[in-house]
Amino acid sequence: MVQPGVPNLVLQKALQPYGLTYAPDPASQKACTIGGNIGTNAGGPHCLKYGVTSQHVVALEVVMPDGDIVETDLRFAGYDLTGFFVGSEGTLGIVTKAALNLIVLPQRVSTMLVSYLTLESAIQSVTDIITAGIIPSTLEAMDEKTVRAVESFVHAGYPMDAGAVLLIEVDGGREIEEQIAAIKKICETNKSLEFRLAKDDAERDKLWEGRRGSYPSMARLAPNVLVEDGAVPRKPPAGGPEKNSRRRRRLRP
Ligand SMILES: Cc1cc2nc3c(=O)[nH]c(=O)nc-3n(C[C@H](O)[C@H](O)[C@H](O)COP(=O)(O)OP(=O)(O)OC[C@H]3O[C@@H](n4cnc5c(N)ncnc54)[C@H](O)[C@@H]3O)c2cc1C
Repeated sequence: MVQPGVPNLVLQKALQPYGLTYAPDPASQKACTIGGNIGTNAGGPHCLKYGVTSQHVVALEVVMPDGDIVETDLRFAGYDLTGFFVGSEGTLGIVTKAALNLIVLPQRVSTMLVSYLTLESAIQSVTDIITAGIIPSTLEAMDEKTVRAVESFVHAGYPMDAGAVLLIEVDGGREIEEQIAAIKKICETNKSLEFRLAKDDAERDKLWEGRRGSYPSMARLAPNVLVEDGAVPRKPPAGGPEKNSRRRRRLRP
């Protein structure tokens, strides 16, 4: 059980000596708390492979508006009350304890930085990697403006002349060598400029420092920065979009 005021990064560091980790890792992890992560159903770079907070909360203790203390537990039969509270932004009650699902730290982690002339070729690589059946642990894209803002502030080693950059990470056992080779081939097919594999933890941390520093890097450039999290549906298989749009049209008043 963890208390809600524990910052996400403090939890991650406390778990490390046991060879364990908690998958949801929002970019705000230095400052945000487990309670806030539960309140917002937070994700993070690793949610591509491991899922968001709702997939990692097993049980909760919640103080209800009338003062009652309620315990929820996914492992018992009945309604999924744990899932009901996750993402409810504190509107249903105050979480005072949480039991979380932990995962074993992968044996190996490899981080790649791939640069491109255009954002389109970077995003095509993302599509091709997923289509090839590879699920990297993270797959982050940054456009030219972000790359430049980050590099001039964080000095993470990002190429200033790139039109876009992908930060790709794979984890697991020996099979990741095959994945790296397949990813490299896909990136080259999409005309990547540079394919760089972080040679050690220090280089890997530096590359991530850049990604995590993208918001403060932008904030330096303007007095007000508005961050919007958008969700774009992936192109469904043939026949899918028309069917979906018909359904949407019927729902309109
Ligand atoms: C720079 C930056 C980067 C970010 N990156 C990501 C990202 O990569 N992925 C992502 O998903 N989100 C991201 N976020 C948003 C993210 O969801 C929040 O930062 C984080 O989850 C909120 O945690 P917090 O401790 O700051 O909560 P707060 O902002 O304090 O609270 C968030 C919500 O949770 C509720 N809440 C807090 N504690 C409890 C509790 N004990 N019981 C019930 N409800 C509670 C609050 O009422 C509120 O509605 C980012 C935000 C910033 C500023």
